[in-house]
Amino acid sequence: MRIDLHTHSTVSDGTQPPAEVMRSAKEAGLDAVALTDHDSTAGWQEAADAARELGITLVPGMEVSCRSSEGISVHVLSYLHDPASPELLAEIARSRSARVSRAEMMVQRLSEDFPIDWELVQQHVAPGATIGRPHIADALVAAGVVPNRSAAFSGILTARSRYFVAHYAPDPARAVELIRKAGGVPVFAHPVASSRGRVVGEPTFREMIDAGLLGVEVDHRDNPDQGRAWLRKLAAENSLLVTGSSDYHGTGKPNRLGECTTAPEVLEQIELRATGSPVIRS
Ligand code: AMP
Ligand code: FE
Ligand code: FE
Ligand code: ZN
Repeated sequence: MRIDLHTHSTVSDGTQPPAEVMRSAKEAGLDAVALTDHDSTAGWQEAADAARELGITLVPGMEVSCRSSEGISVHVLSYLHDPASPELLAEIARSRSARVSRAEMMVQRLSEDFPIDWELVQQHVAPGATIGRPHIADALVAAGVVPNRSAAFSGILTARSRYFVAHYAPDPARAVELIRKAGGVPVFAHPVASSRGRVVGEPTFREMIDAGLLGVEVDHRDNPDQGRAWLRKLAAENSLLVTGSSDYHGTGKPNRLGECTTAPEVLEQIELRATGSPVIRS
């Protein structure tokens, strides 16, 4: 069994529609895949239909954008929650709408120095999708400012850049609590991904664990080896599940489907702990 529990589609900042992500997962030889778009479950239905047709297992999921009290970006994966749970729904709706005004502000700042505008950015966002910096990066690529998303993220779009604007996002412990309330399984995504910016310290982990965190994404290309060892120890001490995944974004990132995987026993545990939505099997 090859299981990849973290992928994105055009419902957020991936480059393939949900059905195509499922097709690519099948071609990559995966048996099970989770669709985890940022702050949205709008791709679940399309992904489920495609998964059934292809004979691949779908784990419906989502990646919740959060910000810690120190202002550090934290991502929490949610598996198998009830997508209609009112409080979680309200939080992600608030984040999605804050993302729009934040993107407008960033584009306003960028347009003073580069030939991009809101309309060009919109051309790279699918209708209803969760907008993020990757879409702004696509506009910068189209305008010939940078060769690809990665180049944009290593300079113009970093959190330290003068064009950067933060957006509203819930506290990670609150997100964990709401995911549990929605019957989902919360897993801390790429917790020690220092290449993306500052990472949270042990007190935030503790708060998240106390709020009901059930797992940590250890095997992810952005987690350095030393951090992975520390995470495995933390997981063992706190009975947390250990997952591994690609964080596939189509052509938007070099990450390949199945480059990191999750053990079948761990998916079994995720399924056992979830009460919000079922795994989709053909
Ligand atoms: P945002 O949530 O709008 O602040 O943007 C963060 C998103 O940018 C993350 O979800 C990543 O998927 C994406 N991202 C971060 N670093 C890179 C990179 N080097 N190349 C492409 N996408 C990236
Ligand atoms: Fe992303
Ligand atoms: Fe993430
Ligand atoms: Zn992700």
